[in-house]
Amino acid sequence: MVTDLVEIRRLGDIQEAENLEFRRYLTAHHRRIEEFQTLAVGIERQIDCTACANCCLHSVVSVSQVEIEALATYLDVNREEVVRHSTDPDPEAPARRILKSKKDGCVFLDGNLCTVYAARPKACRDFPHVTPGSHSLGARVSSLCRWVSLCPILYNAFESYKHRVGFHPHLHKV
Ligand code: SF4
Ligand code: SF4
Repeated sequence: MVTDLVEIRRLGDIQEAENLEFRRYLTAHHRRIEEFQTLAVGIERQIDCTACANCCLHSVVSVSQVEIEALATYLDVNREEVVRHSTDPDPEAPARRILKSKKDGCVFLDGNLCTVYAARPKACRDFPHVTPGSHSLGARVSSLCRWVSLCPILYNAFESYKHRVGFHPHLHKV
């Protein structure tokens, strides 16, 4: 299991072409998402997210009006304060809001810990989207692959899954 973030970034970048090939392989072979999810959840249990927090450094987190209300209640401030101090317009859809990001990550990140953990938005709760549920692997795999060089859970899950399904890269070897 690789958990060092620098090493994961290095390996993930080297394996970019291989992972693109793996995405095509998964699409072509109609693999069932459940086997990937089961494997990824097993890896998730072995990784300490509080020692990582890399998703909180790199994510763009959308927040709904309901989630802004929940943050306001949790922080015991009014919703306008949350909107003004903790969110920005979503550059891709200015009517929506995203959590503010600073150079050291999400506005609510303190060290490696989320200061609003109990009230964090759904996007944070769901990441890295490996829990068995509604998404198909085909729908998810391209966005998951983008996180392979940043998230230890996804990096190790993809490497294990390649091994499980007998994938042999033709383009690149590490
Ligand atoms: S709200 Fe919390 S879990 Fe979500 S990105 Fe910010 S620090 Fe991370
Ligand atoms: S979900 Fe992935 S990137 Fe986020 S803290 Fe956990 S291991 Fe790190």
